[in-house]
Amino acid sequence: MQSVSKIKEVREIIKDWKSGGFSIGFVATMGYLHAGHKSLIELARQQNDRVVVSVFVNPTQFGPNEDFAKYPRDIEHDWQICQEAGADLLFAPAVTEMYPDNNLAYIDLKELGDNLCGASRPGHFRGVCTVVGKLFNIITPDQAYFGQKDAQQLAIIKKMVKDLNFAVKIIACPIVREPDGLALSSRNAYLSTQQRQAALILSQSLQAAQELLLKGERDAQVIREFISEQIASEPLVKSDYIELVDTLTLKPVKNITAPILVAAAIYVGKTRLIDNFLFEEI
Ligand code: AMP
Repeated sequence: MQSVSKIKEVREIIKDWKSGGFSIGFVATMGYLHAGHKSLIELARQQNDRVVVSVFVNPTQFGPNEDFAKYPRDIEHDWQICQEAGADLLFAPAVTEMYPDNNLAYIDLKELGDNLCGASRPGHFRGVCTVVGKLFNIITPDQAYFGQKDAQQLAIIKKMVKDLNFAVKIIACPIVREPDGLALSSRNAYLSTQQRQAALILSQSLQAAQELLLKGERDAQVIREFISEQIASEPLVKSDYIELVDTLTLKPVKNITAPILVAAAIYVGKTRLIDNFLFEEI
């Protein structure tokens, strides 16, 4: 596996691969890689001739009071995971490489980024779309892999690709969980043992809500309140949002008559965690 940090080096390698007729799969990450990231890289490995993984903690998607400076980083471990998962190229640029001067061009999908996570993280998805757009232009992948774990991000990236005619196919990958149900996240590293236990209420309440839907409940407010009560029963946890939204528009639904995304975010201490499920069996 090659590892580079300069855009010029990536472009040379990609040019070489393209001239050989190789298809390219791409996984964008912020590093501190775990089995969730690894599942994306492994799927990319199965479906493409060459696989590129980027590791870049993107400052433009963090708000002023968020955890950019203390976001966990471990590039040697990341290298190891990429190698094990069969990546061909690790691209780990510095902030100055991706944003060498005052970046004036941004990609903003407006209202798609305003609710759910966007409500408590203003500007977050503008930063995400901008960096993913830049990475797509640098790497020019045929297929790019994104986790269902970040469901809003996935929906927004799909719309960005459609609206801006990026020549890449977006592949959605299932959420990878710990055996007890907690969705894997680099931010789980912030949790104390007690907080880690308390955080389980997120996946558990969503799982229970899924069962209510399977039993036939179709009133979004009933489901929302059900999840809210469960989360409120855990004193170490504060809910940020609980929403039932249309899978494409991300607009809240009242009566469940079409496929929906049930998404929630909680705070455990200062750590913000997200989880969701799709309900498509109407
Ligand atoms: P991040 O490093 O958090 O920006 O995540 C990079 C990619 O990995 C995104 O497409 C995430 O949705 C995906 N990802 C993160 N955690 C998981 C997980 N537990 N299961 C599946 N995909 C994940």
